[in-house]
Amino acid sequence: MNSRRNVLKSLITLPFVGGLFSKNELLAAETRHILSNIKKDYFKELGIRTFINAAGTYTSMTGSLMAQEVVEAINYGSHEYVNLDELHDKVGQRIAQLLNCEAATVSSGCFGAMSIAMAGVMCGKDPQKVKQLPNTEGLLNEVILQESHSIGYSQALTNVGAKLVKVKTAQELENAISEKTAMLWFLNANTENGDIKWEEFVQLGKKHNIPTFIDCAADVPPVENLFKFTEMGFDMVAFSGGKGLRGPQSAGLLLGKKTYIEAARLHTPPRGETIGRGMKVNKEEVLGMLAALELYLAKDHKAEWQMWETQIDLISNAAKSVEGVETIIHVPPHANHVPSLKIRWDENKVKISPNQLREILRNGSPSIETVGNNREVGITTWMMVPGQETIVAEKIQSILKEHAV
Ligand SMILES: *Cc1c(COP(=O)(O)O)cnc(C)c1O
Repeated sequence: MNSRRNVLKSLITLPFVGGLFSKNELLAAETRHILSNIKKDYFKELGIRTFINAAGTYTSMTGSLMAQEVVEAINYGSHEYVNLDELHDKVGQRIAQLLNCEAATVSSGCFGAMSIAMAGVMCGKDPQKVKQLPNTEGLLNEVILQESHSIGYSQALTNVGAKLVKVKTAQELENAISEKTAMLWFLNANTENGDIKWEEFVQLGKKHNIPTFIDCAADVPPVENLFKFTEMGFDMVAFSGGKGLRGPQSAGLLLGKKTYIEAARLHTPPRGETIGRGMKVNKEEVLGMLAALELYLAKDHKAEWQMWETQIDLISNAAKSVEGVETIIHVPPHANHVPSLKIRWDENKVKISPNQLREILRNGSPSIETVGNNREVGITTWMMVPGQETIVAEKIQSILKEHAV
């Protein structure tokens, strides 16, 4: 960690001194000085709308913003040639050391991690099998998951040729195991919806000698999750690089047992004639991912959490100050586990619908993106540049006021 960060960090951890925003402003300085170095304004030249992200980590909104240190690692990497496999090996070892697991690799997002991991367990380390995908003839090609965990992202598994076998209970899972079963797949975000929870799932894998995988794409914070699931016994764990970790949007982390990481790597560049040849991670992003992880581990998570709470409170209070408006502050238990706000109102008292309000925010200057539907507006502040919460609070309050009867 460089001295600038140390200074910032020690300032941030001081108790509040100059009112609510001193701490936020300090954190904001970290992101702002990236913007101060702009030489060519591409988005402006191209006529592309930029916006305050009050929504969260969405691929459609280009994920998260990278810290200066991550951008520096990417720039650094762009000046020299290295051997791609050596880079992946050494960075993987470093990540495994940092996260206390057997092995790791930087993948092309969490989705890419799932595809190469699935391909890896189906083919093992047999070069002929590696080459035959997506044809899975003669391979173990079934992956068992809970029905409630089946979401669009399981396409990462079927893309490489695997077949999904959906079950509800532990008994059903055991009955579904066949000589074709390659993997058991768990979606952390939907933990609460499924019958089988983490420990039992891991035990079932061990009992039947089938590798287990957990999709933790959006599961930092809390930082502990980076350690928790490998320690619990999941054979493979995957995170998005460009969500809470704020690394490159197209990078991710695949952690786990050495044998499975090695098998997954056989499907990745520089090796051609593989299903994963298109899931390349360039050297710059490999370094950027490492830098983002190091930064994330060193971060003062408590101070950051307090900042998010303060920001959410500010927006909540601004909205609630308008007659007929109510707010709910909540933290999702798994995935996007951050202070979040829902704003609702009585449309007899405020004559505008939530979607109309969101549209006004989107079309305003600066443009603001939120989530929601026709019942409520949803806000998180973790993907904002600190300081932007005041703009969001003021805008929402003024639009609501304008439409109040
Ligand atoms: C975002 C997400 C993914 C995909 O991650 P990328 O890093 O964008 O590839 C997979 N699974 C879940 C649950 C996600 O939320």
